[in-house]
Amino acid sequence: MRLLLVEDDAMIGRAVTAALRGEGYALDWVRDGAAALTALTCTGYAALLLDLGLPRRDGLDVLREARRAGKTLPVLVLTARDTVEDRVAGLDAGADDYLPKPFHLDELSARVRALLRRAGGRAGPLLRAGDVTLDPASGEVRLRGAPVALSAKEYALLRVLLQKPGALHPRERLLDALYGWGEEVGSNTIEVYVHGLRRKLGADFIVTVRGIGYRLAAAP
Ligand code: CA
Repeated sequence: MRLLLVEDDAMIGRAVTAALRGEGYALDWVRDGAAALTALTCTGYAALLLDLGLPRRDGLDVLREARRAGKTLPVLVLTARDTVEDRVAGLDAGADDYLPKPFHLDELSARVRALLRRAGGRAGPLLRAGDVTLDPASGEVRLRGAPVALSAKEYALLRVLLQKPGALHPRERLLDALYGWGEEVGSNTIEVYVHGLRRKLGADFIVTVRGIGYRLAAAP
């Protein structure tokens, strides 16, 4: 899952980036509102983490413009502007949730999980397809109840597939979801991780749709 962080404070930006990358998210970080709008136009993000006080374009402005452009991604506003009026303005501009600064990184990542859960149309915490479950809070993957050890990228790929278990996932979109800017991408990386997941979760778990991408066999 690829996230966009818009934050002009270097210390907060670095801390959030490290924390969320550590949980296997691909994360792009921009430091002003104009760059945020460009990034949102070019890349399909799973969620947006948005500061409000920003150079070049104000965060609320970014949010309104993204919503006007039809972007439906979930938005978590991170800001020190925490009067009731500010929160109401943010939510009314199209934010899904609001986290006042200073915040704890554990709470931030729990709120990101909650946003992705809702965006995936789920109310419960577990992602599942067939005999496979993934718990985004603990990072645990189980096959018929037994824990399975995955590499970081295998886990990230499985999480993307399980976010929309019934969908056909084009290969290009999977690459987009797994790698942020500046990350080295090999030509056959997705195939390598699919191979790894099949070996660990069952050869039939992921179906290749030739020329397009992949889908889960156990799709509901
Ligand atoms: Ca700021």
